Amino acid sequence: MRSFQADYVFPVNAPPLEKGILLTEDDGTVIELLPADATIRLQDMGVLLETHKGILVPGFVNTHCHLELSCMKGQISPKKGIAGFVSEFVAKRNSFNDEERKLAIEQAEKEMILNGIVAVGDISNGADTFGLKAKSNLYYHTFIECFDLNPSKTEESFGRALSLRDEWLRLSPGSGKQISVVAHAPYTVTPHLLLKICALARERGSILSFHNQESEAENEMFTVGKGSLMEMYKKMGLDLSWFKVSGQSSLRSVLPCYEGVGKVLLVHNTYTSKEEVQWAEHCSEQMSKAKTNPASSQRIYWATCPGANLYIENRMPEYAFFAGQEHAVTIGTDSLASNGSLSVLEELKLIIEHSPEISLETGMRWATLNGAEFLGIDKQFGSFEKGKKPGVVWITDAGLSKLSSGSSARRLV
Ligand SMILES: [Zn+2]
Repeated sequence: MRSFQADYVFPVNAPPLEKGILLTEDDGTVIELLPADATIRLQDMGVLLETHKGILVPGFVNTHCHLELSCMKGQISPKKGIAGFVSEFVAKRNSFNDEERKLAIEQAEKEMILNGIVAVGDISNGADTFGLKAKSNLYYHTFIECFDLNPSKTEESFGRALSLRDEWLRLSPGSGKQISVVAHAPYTVTPHLLLKICALARERGSILSFHNQESEAENEMFTVGKGSLMEMYKKMGLDLSWFKVSGQSSLRSVLPCYEGVGKVLLVHNTYTSKEEVQWAEHCSEQMSKAKTNPASSQRIYWATCPGANLYIENRMPEYAFFAGQEHAVTIGTDSLASNGSLSVLEELKLIIEHSPEISLETGMRWATLNGAEFLGIDKQFGSFEKGKKPGVVWITDAGLSKLSSGSSARRLV
């Protein structure tokens, strides 16, 4: 048995406990959370207390990452907007050999472990990360990502994603619940491909995610058929004559396709308006009510990746728009192509610095339990509750309501 005490323990499912004591089995399974006055009793029983200055939290859940892009760290100029980012990314992505990509992926995973991350929602376009994930101590859910802007290639794109999924299942049999086929974003898939992806998710009961409103250009494409993304596509020589301007934002244009899919994670939401947040929530409630099986009720989750948003668009989401959604916001690091580190704690510092009205207690819920619920792993991860094995992370230089720029994470179990 081990026992940990800190200035505050954040169980996450309940308010922080001052000088609280966390009892775990040696393997980290939570036995009990005790108040400060249990200290003497434990000492009398000869239990050795491990005491820490700062706070204790469950392991972090990183709901949006692209581990396979780790070799792109520092390769793309910051603050050039989404079209600038994509153009430079496409030009440079093939300039690394297999060994360089493999080493960068291994290094990035080590970084996540050091930063207290225990579970990851990870996007894959290829099989580069599969070997590492199959053997890892971290929990991974892999989202196989589809792109397709040529309606005559839809079957091919979808078939490639299915082959990749099957490759993963051969490597890790029995992990069918840890893999989904998803669309990259509304602006990079044809309507036919999106329908196929959603139909597969309904059939398999898979969770889905897509990049949502990361730029204003994405909304412009759908509302008026113009903007820097449309210009970039023209320069690339793509025939978009099939694309229909809906006159509505990208989110309003595509979300109805997701009707009947269980859980959907919208990633970024940098240009999502308050009305759209409320509309999306209303949609998912209506869709859930229409379903006969309550177990498959629909839920929208909102992943924020502020480090990447600042890197690409130099803007962050308006967190006030998500007031009332405290149980549905999650945190992602995105990839090292658009972020300096893979640390949920660093993302949380950015969020609180930008929006001090968000309490540390709420932020910790975004960083842990909400992501665990989205990934369907909250029986093990996300909070200090009896029987869970969520990881124990010590945050230095932190208190009940504050992190400092020097706060760092250290995994204790
Ligand atoms: Zn991403």
